[in-house]
Amino acid sequence: MIRLTNLTKKYGTFTAVDAIDLDVPPGELFGFLGPNGAGKTTTLRMIAGILQPTSGTIEIGGVDIVKDPITAKAKLGFIPDRPFIYEKLTGIEFLRFVAGLYGEEGPDVEHRARELLALFDLDEWRDELVESYSHGMRQKLIVSSAFVHRPQVIVVDEPHVGLDPKSIKILRDVFKEYVRRGHTIMMSTHTLETAESLCDRIAIIVNGKIAAAGTMDDLRTQSKQVGGLEEIFLKLTGENAARNLVEVLDA
Ligand code: ATP
Repeated sequence: MIRLTNLTKKYGTFTAVDAIDLDVPPGELFGFLGPNGAGKTTTLRMIAGILQPTSGTIEIGGVDIVKDPITAKAKLGFIPDRPFIYEKLTGIEFLRFVAGLYGEEGPDVEHRARELLALFDLDEWRDELVESYSHGMRQKLIVSSAFVHRPQVIVVDEPHVGLDPKSIKILRDVFKEYVRRGHTIMMSTHTLETAESLCDRIAIIVNGKIAAAGTMDDLRTQSKQVGGLEEIFLKLTGENAARNLVEVLDA
């Protein structure tokens, strides 16, 4: 459903994403992990059609997003790490607006939008302007907007930031149910426990390259590391070679 082939992004002479190959089939929740600056957001923004690749290809449901962006983007919902919402729309107006961008309107959209707002405890805020929403409420509205047109693929950059524990639980359940219905979700996160318990497969990106990808067993084999995702992540990213804390705090 998402296929990346030799995907590369350069900013000037710096290579942020370096010849990545990935294949995420329908019905899979795929975790995309890596240290700060590894290239996660750059990759997800290319998949969402916001950034142009320097080279390589991205296919969404078999459609090349550079060659046929409208068809490919119609299959996508994107939850960015730094969302933008029009402040002067109400919650329900924003969901109608997003559905409209995908050519959807009418009673089905209205029903779906109301159900999504209720799911995330936003029904009382439905007719309030977004400018009065808290950070977490905005995040929940953005998440709702990615589901409102029922895309085949949802790409999510750091979905948990700013969400309270109840909302995180709802989000996890929605993601699980969505992929169970045959859709595809690709999610970046720094929350390793969530990735390990939620994702069917995981890729770890380091310095723009895929260091390991697959199921937890695949990651253990590829990293030659026993244990959980934290041990594997630290081994692959070299963060266990961090500075001696005592020396730093005594400095
Ligand atoms: P984080 O976990 O911190 O969000 P990330 O894995 O999402 O990190 P990216 O935002 O994709 O990382 O950044 C990858 C690299 O590309 C970083 O070194 C970053 O400084 C660089 N980069 C990102 N955007 C630009 C830009 N517009 N111009 C130049 N360099 C950029």
